[in-house]
Amino acid sequence: MPTEATFLLAGLFVVAAATGWAFAKFSNFRRDDSPSDPVSSDYLRGLNFVLNRQTDEALELFVRMAKVDDDTLETHFALGHLFRRRGEVDRAIRVHQNLLARPNLSEDQRHQALFSLAQDFLSAGLFDRAEKLFSELGTSPGLGEAALKNLVDIYESQSDWMKAIETHRELEVLSGEKSTEIAHYYCELAERARLDGDLDLARRYLKSSVRSATGAFRGTLIRAAIAQEEGDYAQALRLYEQILEADYRLMVEVLPELIICYQTAGREVELENYLQELISKDTSLKHAIAYAAILGEVSGLNVIETCIEEFVLKDKIFASFIDEEYMASLLPEERQAAIQRIANGLRSLAASGARYRCTTCGYNSQKLLWHCPSCKSWESIRPLQRFQFENPSA
Ligand SMILES: [Zn+2]
Repeated sequence: MPTEATFLLAGLFVVAAATGWAFAKFSNFRRDDSPSDPVSSDYLRGLNFVLNRQTDEALELFVRMAKVDDDTLETHFALGHLFRRRGEVDRAIRVHQNLLARPNLSEDQRHQALFSLAQDFLSAGLFDRAEKLFSELGTSPGLGEAALKNLVDIYESQSDWMKAIETHRELEVLSGEKSTEIAHYYCELAERARLDGDLDLARRYLKSSVRSATGAFRGTLIRAAIAQEEGDYAQALRLYEQILEADYRLMVEVLPELIICYQTAGREVELENYLQELISKDTSLKHAIAYAAILGEVSGLNVIETCIEEFVLKDKIFASFIDEEYMASLLPEERQAAIQRIANGLRSLAASGARYRCTTCGYNSQKLLWHCPSCKSWESIRPLQRFQFENPSA
C-alpha cells in the first residue's frame, strides 16, 4: 500500500501540473481577451478534490471533463497511476477507459492509455485482458519493448513457456540482443516432457536450450536424469561428474544420484575411488560431501563416513556440544552410531531451515528453484554449504 508521502507527492505533482496549466490558460485569457475556457474551473475543482482526498468526487469530475488536451492529459495519467498505486484499480481502469474513449488522442497518447489500462488489468489479476492489450502494443514504436516484457512476465507466471519463447524472439528482434531466458524456457519444457515420460521430446527441447552458458547446468542435470532413466549409467555418471567439476556446490543434488548410478551399475568400488580422487584434488570437498550426505541421508561408504565424522567433530559449533574424549573412547561401531545420531539430528533440524539461497537477492528456499520468485533471476539459486537453523523466508 502507498504511504501518506506517496499520496502527498502525487498531490504535489498534480498541483505543479495545474499551476503550469492555469498560468498558461490565464495568460492566454489576458492576451487574447477571449472568454475563459469552461474546462479550467472543472479542472481546478478536480485538483482541489484530489488534494482534499475526495477521490470519489475527483474521479467523477475528471471522467466527465469534456475536453482532454495535452495540458490535462498528464494529470489524467497521474490520477490513474495514483489510483492503481493505492490499490483502487477499478477507478484507475475508469480513468484510462475514459481517456481511450476520447476521439482527439494522438496515436502515442492512445498507446500510452492502452499501456496504462493493461497495467491496471495486470494489477487486478485480469491476465487475459492485460495480455490482449500488451499484445496489441507489441509493435508500438515507443512502448513495444515494455509491452513485450510485461507479456513475458505474464507467460512466466502462467508457465506458458512456448509463448514466453515466441515473445522473447520478438524482443530479440526489437532490442538486437540475444535472450538468455529462452534456454531456461526450453529446459522447463524438457523437464516437463521428461516427467510426462516423453524422453524424445525432452531431448529435442534440450537441443534448443543450447544457446549459451545459461541453462547449461540445468540442461546437463536433465540429460543425466534421462540417461539414468534409460539405464545408460555410464552416460549419466559422465554428466553428473561434469556438473560437479563445474560447480561442487551442486554436490547436494548430484551425490545421491551418483550413488544410485554407481550402485545400480555394480560399480561401488569405483565410486569410493572417484570421491577419494576428488578429495585429493581439493580437500575442501570433504565438507561438501559430508553436508550433501547428511542432507541426502546417504551412508555406507567409508569415504563418506569419514567426511561426516570430520564435519561433525571439526565444526566449531557442533564440537562444543560433543565430548571429544568420550567419542575417542568409544569402539568404532559405537563411535559411528553416535556420529550417525548427530547427523540424523542435523537433518531433522535442517528440515525447518533454508537449504538454498539466491546469489543475486538472498532469497531463501527449501528446494532448488531455477527461477527466483523474488528477483526473477534464472539459475541464481544455489545450495547452501552450511546448516541454517532459522526459518526460510519461503
Ligand atoms: Zn533472487
